[in-house]
Amino acid sequence: MVDLKAWLSLQREKGGLRSLRPVVRRKNGRVTLAVDDTRELLDFSSNDYLALAEHPLLIAAAQQALSRFGTGSGASRLMSGDLSVHHELEEAVARLKGKEGALTFGSGYMANAGIIPALVDRHDFIFSDRLNHASIHDGCRLSGARLLRFRHNDLNHLEDLLKEKRGRGSALIVVESIYSMDGDRCPLRELVEIKERFGCLLMVDEAHATGVFGQNGGGVIEEDGVGEAVDLAMGTFGKALGSYGAYVAGNKEMIDYLVNRARSFIFSTALPPAVAAASLAAVQLVRREPDLRRELHEKTTYFKGLLRTGGYNADLGSSQIIPILIGESAAALNKADLLRQQGIFATAVRPPTVPEGTARLRFSITRHQSKADLAQAARALLEIIDI
Ligand SMILES: *Cc1c(COP(=O)(O)O)cnc(C)c1O
Repeated sequence: MVDLKAWLSLQREKGGLRSLRPVVRRKNGRVTLAVDDTRELLDFSSNDYLALAEHPLLIAAAQQALSRFGTGSGASRLMSGDLSVHHELEEAVARLKGKEGALTFGSGYMANAGIIPALVDRHDFIFSDRLNHASIHDGCRLSGARLLRFRHNDLNHLEDLLKEKRGRGSALIVVESIYSMDGDRCPLRELVEIKERFGCLLMVDEAHATGVFGQNGGGVIEEDGVGEAVDLAMGTFGKALGSYGAYVAGNKEMIDYLVNRARSFIFSTALPPAVAAASLAAVQLVRREPDLRRELHEKTTYFKGLLRTGGYNADLGSSQIIPILIGESAAALNKADLLRQQGIFATAVRPPTVPEGTARLRFSITRHQSKADLAQAARALLEIIDI
C-alpha cells in the first residue's frame, strides 16, 4: 500500500499533482471557472470540435428520447436495457463507417478495455503504437496477450517487430488515426499493406477523427479509403459528436462475436436513451453537413498560419489538435496559468498522459472560435513561448 501523504506531497513538489477544476458556466465556447468570477475564458481545451454539444438538433433529440424512454436505460443491453434507439444509432454508425454493423459501449475507455481482451489472449500478439491512448493500453494489458509497442508512427519499427517477434498466434495491430495529444495522423494506407502482408487484425481508434475527417465525416479511414481493410473501426461520441459513449464498427460476425464476448458491453448498463438519441442526431448531422468540417478546418489553418507568421516553427500536427511542446510539467502549468490571465483556457498536458519531459499546452480548435478569438489566442501564446 502506498503512503498516500508522501505520494501526494511528492507529486505536488514535482508539479505532477492533478486536481479537478469545475467549469461553472459554459456557452458558445466560453467558460467561467468560478461562481464569483464574471470573466469568461475562451475555451481551447474542449474536444467538442464541431460545437455539437450545444446544437439544437442534439438537444431536441435528447429531449424527445427523455420523454419517450425516461432517463436511464434500466439494464444492460442483453438483459432488458436494449432500446430501439440503440439499434438506430448502431445502424447509423455502421453506415457512417462503411461497415456491416456496429456496437455501442458506455464510453471509449470501456470500448477499448472490452474489445481488445475479447479478441486476443495470452497465446496471441498485440502490436500497439507507443502513443496509443491509455484505454487502448489498458485493454492490451487486460487481454494478457504479448504486447509489443512500436515507436510512434514508425512502420519500419512495426515491420521489424512483426518479423522478429510474431509467433504463430493471431496478431492485432492497434493504432489511432489522429493522435489525441500530438494531433498527428497515422499513415493508414501503408499500415494496411503491412497488416495484409502479415495477416493481422487491424483496429483503428478514431476518437478525434470521426465527424472531422472524410467526405461524410467517416473519419480518416474514409478519407484514406481504407475502411474495408480496417477490421475494427472504433470511435467515441464524446468528442466531435458532442455526446457521450463509444462504438465499434465491423463486419457482422465481428459484431455478433463482441455482443457475446466483450465484457464491458455485457456487464454494463446500456447507454441512457437521451444520450443515444443525441449521438444518433450527431451522426446524421455530420453526414448531412460537410460545412461543419470545412469551417473547423479553415479555422485550424488560420490559427496555425498566425503562429507561423509569428515565428513559431515547431511541429503543429496535422489536425484540429495543436500541441505546443513545453518540456517540464511545472513550466507547462505556469504557461497555462499565464494564458488564463489573458483570457485563454488551454490545458497543460503532463505525464503520465504524455511521456516524461514532453509536457505541453494542448490547443483544440472548435467551431465556436471566431477569427478574432483565434487571433487573441495566438497573440497571447506567442508572447509566452520561446520561439
Ligand atoms: C478520449 C479517448 C478515448 C476514451 O473515450 P471516452 O469516451 O472519453 O472514454 C479512447 N481513445 C482515444 C484515442 C481517446 O482520445
